[in-house]
Amino acid sequence: MSDSTDEDAPECRACGDPVTEGDGRRIQSIVKNGEAIHYQFCSPACLESGERT
Ligand SMILES: [Zn+2]
Repeated sequence: MSDSTDEDAPECRACGDPVTEGDGRRIQSIVKNGEAIHYQFCSPACLESGERT
């Protein structure tokens, strides 16, 4: 398992920006159809807006 963060930075679920570590990153974990899904957000504000939609 590698720890690479730059090469495949996840997109913010709300605004689509690449989510990098140490930048107010937030992760929302939900369970859908028995699978754990982790949504990534670049900031607390995006986390809130992502939850509303
Ligand atoms: Zn964002």
